[in-house]
Amino acid sequence: MVFRLNNLMSQEDSHFIRNSIIALVVGSLIYAVITSSWLRKIPTAIFSFIKHIISLLFSWLSSNIVMPKWLICILLILALYPIFKLFKYIIKIYKKTDQTLNKPYNEDNIFGVIWRWDGTGDWPRFVMPYCPICDNELVCQEQRKDFLPVSLLYHPHFTKFVCERCGVSSDELPGDHDNAIERVEREIRRRSRVSQRETKTVVEPNQGESSASG
Ligand SMILES: [Zn+2]
Repeated sequence: MVFRLNNLMSQEDSHFIRNSIIALVVGSLIYAVITSSWLRKIPTAIFSFIKHIISLLFSWLSSNIVMPKWLICILLILALYPIFKLFKYIIKIYKKTDQTLNKPYNEDNIFGVIWRWDGTGDWPRFVMPYCPICDNELVCQEQRKDFLPVSLLYHPHFTKFVCERCGVSSDELPGDHDNAIERVEREIRRRSRVSQRETKTVVEPNQGESSASG
């Protein structure tokens, strides 16, 4: 027991001595690198180089140049062009945002194709599918998974909407045509609710207090 304790203490002592030596060596190396003369000169050299460049630039900018008036006119026109473009771009963004905010929600890409409808997103009516590539009206295809022809006896397992021109197809929606349309309508109403909720959370910090008091 005593032997084991002595052994343990001697192990701890040896670890302490080893760590101390490593720390001393690493510390000495770092000190040597920091205090070496060539390393100390680097920041000073960089600083003096930057200072020289700045002074050169300043002297060049403060010097006078002779320029014909027609060249000044051309330079002015060239300078006005990007300003005009920027102004046009800002107006375009403003108009787009305004249109997006005021546009009624009656078109969306749902289940892989474009759907358009009358009325609002809360109450969509006459929901119609369109091709996302050529904007063609899509054809309804009721199908069975066992490939038997759909009839009164064999009800369709799923319905999809296909473009006759480019072959684009919607996702397979369970049930017949009516089931598929109802599913799309539910999805439209869901998206409309989510969108309204998001708009409220963005707009309401200022409007919430007035509506709560009124
Ligand atoms: Zn198409």
